[in-house]
Amino acid sequence: MKKYNLPVILLNGIVLLPQNILKLEFDAKNSDNNVIDMALLFHDNYILVVSEYNQKRMPKIGVLSKIESHLVLPNGNMRVDIKGLRRVNIVEFLNLNKVKEPLESIVSEITSEKIENEQLIINKLVKEIKIYIKNISYISNDIINMIEKETNLDKFTDIVVPNLFNNKKKMLDYLNTVDPIKRSEMLLKDIYIEKEMFQIERNLDMKIKKEMDDTQKEFLLREKIRMLKEELGEYSSKDNELEKLKKQIENFSCPPKIKERLYFEIKRYESSSIASPEINVIRDYIEWLLNLPWNIYTEDNNDLNNVKEKLDKSHYGLEEVKERIIEYLAVKQISKNDASPIICLVGPPGVGKTSLAVSIAKSLNKNFVKISLNGIKDESEILGHRKTYVGASPGRIISSLKKAKSSNPLLLIDEIDKMSYDYRSNPTNSLLSILDSKQNKYFSDNYIEEEFDLSHVLFVLTANYIEDIPEPLKDRLEIINISGYTEFEKLDIANKYLLPKIINEKGLNNKFINISDNVILKIIRNYTKEAGVRELQRQLDKIIRKIITQLVINNIKINKINITEKVLEKYLGKEKYKFNIKTKSQVGVVNGLAYTIYGGDTLPIEVNYFKGKGNLLLTGSLGEVMKESASIALSYLKSNYKIYNIDYEKLINNDIHIHVPEGAIKKDGPSAGIALTLAILSAITQIKIPNTIALTGEITLRGHVLAIGGLKEKTIGALRSGIKTIILPYENLKDLEELPHEVKENIKFITVKDFKEIYQVIKNVER
Ligand code: ADP
Repeated sequence: MKKYNLPVILLNGIVLLPQNILKLEFDAKNSDNNVIDMALLFHDNYILVVSEYNQKRMPKIGVLSKIESHLVLPNGNMRVDIKGLRRVNIVEFLNLNKVKEPLESIVSEITSEKIENEQLIINKLVKEIKIYIKNISYISNDIINMIEKETNLDKFTDIVVPNLFNNKKKMLDYLNTVDPIKRSEMLLKDIYIEKEMFQIERNLDMKIKKEMDDTQKEFLLREKIRMLKEELGEYSSKDNELEKLKKQIENFSCPPKIKERLYFEIKRYESSSIASPEINVIRDYIEWLLNLPWNIYTEDNNDLNNVKEKLDKSHYGLEEVKERIIEYLAVKQISKNDASPIICLVGPPGVGKTSLAVSIAKSLNKNFVKISLNGIKDESEILGHRKTYVGASPGRIISSLKKAKSSNPLLLIDEIDKMSYDYRSNPTNSLLSILDSKQNKYFSDNYIEEEFDLSHVLFVLTANYIEDIPEPLKDRLEIINISGYTEFEKLDIANKYLLPKIINEKGLNNKFINISDNVILKIIRNYTKEAGVRELQRQLDKIIRKIITQLVINNIKINKINITEKVLEKYLGKEKYKFNIKTKSQVGVVNGLAYTIYGGDTLPIEVNYFKGKGNLLLTGSLGEVMKESASIALSYLKSNYKIYNIDYEKLINNDIHIHVPEGAIKKDGPSAGIALTLAILSAITQIKIPNTIALTGEITLRGHVLAIGGLKEKTIGALRSGIKTIILPYENLKDLEELPHEVKENIKFITVKDFKEIYQVIKNVER
């Protein structure tokens, strides 16, 4: 390989890529002048430019460059334009430690290889760059003219990069990447990243701007209204207002500190000019203080028998839940221990978490207020904005106390598992300090500024998924699980609670509606799909509403109306869901069990195989954990093929496709492990698995079967789908006791520790 020697320019802080021009001005006294002279005199204007010089890590790549012009300025300095030509390998440096000698190098050429589809790659890059530039205003369009006619990918990337990015580290990466195809890939990736970043920044900007605009707009509009009202003579004059407020403050019952603050603020109000924007801020603040229930307490009903009675009246079943609530209240009554945990009701939507909290409040004679944390990501939504913000207001806790009209209400904090987090703040910490009875005595909202004692508030929290509750919060909670209802429990709820409630609300006679259990069951099975009874309540309400409307329109007067299966379609439309309709047992199809927002359900798993190379193909919106389970399942069967009489050739000469239907629903979690394994085994060995069997359990690479969660929900779903046998982990044996009796009576449970046991069960099953 040809080697030659060149004088060297070391750059500091800038990077020269080939195809680009570097403009330098040398100090007259600088020895680099010598390097330039040497290049001009002995090297035909060629020179090596090295962009990063580090004694410890000698650079390997430099840019062979040519001095295109040079000019000696009147002050003796020299100005040179150097154009980068191509990358070369640096073999070694000469005169490295000799201060007086100009630095020189020995370099060798880099051979370039022909690039396949070069033009196609260039076209793709041009397309992406055009889109990118269109979005980003600070990059000039000139670059398009420069690159559009370029047909050499090597040159292309070097022209583009300095125009798009000016980060030294990135430029060095491009300089040191010799292969133009690799550089193109880097370029595409960087463009995508920059585009994403830009989009994120723009969304943030827009959001902030909108928030500012909204609050500012509201403020200005309020000012205008105020001035118009004043013009119209409708607005009480400041003096009147002042008198009114002063009187109110005098008679207001609150801690002395708050009184002092009120007097202080009213003085500020008095001395502010009516034209100043500040005056409204002060008045709003005074009104907030006057509207908080500082010294107002409702008297608690401490008769827990009575509380239990009332809970029974409002809610069907939930015996354990009610018992735990009563115990909790009992302990709270006698214990002086401030650190008692906070109740958190966890369960799917519609199972009665909110309504139970309302009932607890009612039965304890407490006022009820609710705040939702769904989507909250900023602490100030909970703790309030400082008054210096335009349009500032207190956070949700203080706002809810204003609504509660007492200092000891039941405050339901809904959906604590749905808080979001971002880099700016962490609402969990604020929530923790609010719930902590040692700290919440001195709770201070950013807007209110004065402490409000929250220690008499009875907090109840709710969440859908226990796993999504932030860990530090979970530690402080007394978790009470409310799982979904079986069909028969729902039927009971409908008959004893929902229908009487709906009929009563509509002012009808109890006997007016006649609806048989079968009809209600049909609504449950074919018109709702849920763990709770919210949808059921809606459907029942809808039927009754429609019937009443018809009677009124047609002026019909009757004392009783029968709702039969026949009229269901008329009122509720076509059946929406079909349960218990099962396909025949098939090879390669196995029922798993899932726990979704609708409660438990069967999760059919389908497996096919076809000529291939032992690859695994997965479809049906599977999450990462479930994908891993599928890989574990396949690996386990591969390494234990003898035990299961599997033809090994079949495993390695075929691709295996696993599909979990209902692709629109995202599925994840490890609990489908054994079902996945059995489905693959069934497909490969052609053993048919009866469709009345369902499996749930995690599998390890060694075939051990590990415990799963949500068993109650899953078994209720399984019962609904007509499953007769459930294979589950031995570790879950202890949970069987808590299952509803319909489930225990109708489903056979087989617990296993190892997958081999499942194989035995399947082999012995009657077909
Ligand atoms: P969640 O807060 O769990 O989403 P809700 O409390 O809003 O559920 O309940 C939805 C509806 O179902 C309410 O009208 C409630 O009265 C009714 N409901 C739920 N569970 C029961 C139950 N066990 N007994 C009687 N009604 C119930």
